[in-house]
Amino acid sequence: MEFNNIYNFAVFLILLPLLLINCGLINNYCDTGASGYGAIVFTFDDKYIQEWFQANSIFSKYDWKTTFCVTKYGTLSDDEKQKLMTLQNNGHEIASHGNKHLRAAEYLSAHTMEDYINEEILLSLSSMEDEGIDISSFVYPYGSRTVETDLTLFNFKRINRLQFKLILMHLIYFL
Ligand SMILES: [Zn+2]
Repeated sequence: MEFNNIYNFAVFLILLPLLLINCGLINNYCDTGASGYGAIVFTFDDKYIQEWFQANSIFSKYDWKTTFCVTKYGTLSDDEKQKLMTLQNNGHEIASHGNKHLRAAEYLSAHTMEDYINEEILLSLSSMEDEGIDISSFVYPYGSRTVETDLTLFNFKRINRLQFKLILMHLIYFL
């Protein structure tokens, strides 16, 4: 069962205060030292590493920070992996966007939650973290999610890591 748009929006409104409260914990996005200025949050999905790297060369003069949500990390070339590492070293967040870019709701109609965690989440995390990418959030491909995936990921505990603490729309943070 997927959430509809109205339900997603309601969840967003309910969780918005949590985002504001947790702003200080989610670095790069909430500059509490500034006042009187608005902010725009950019995220980029999939594996357009060359284009992201080019965008960074254009926008870095504005000291921008963004989240690059990476899928199918294992298929990246060494050059793309190096560029991704450079983006992380420039202060951008690299998020997991799944190992296979699965539609969670559709996948779970024929597979178990354990399959989903193993195939989509753990392989994505290990492939990136084993090469030095620090992952603190997960973004659902296609925004496809269920109540069960949210609850599973929210309660997901990782060895030597803190668990997910915040679910926002299609994005889940490890804090
Ligand atoms: Zn995607």
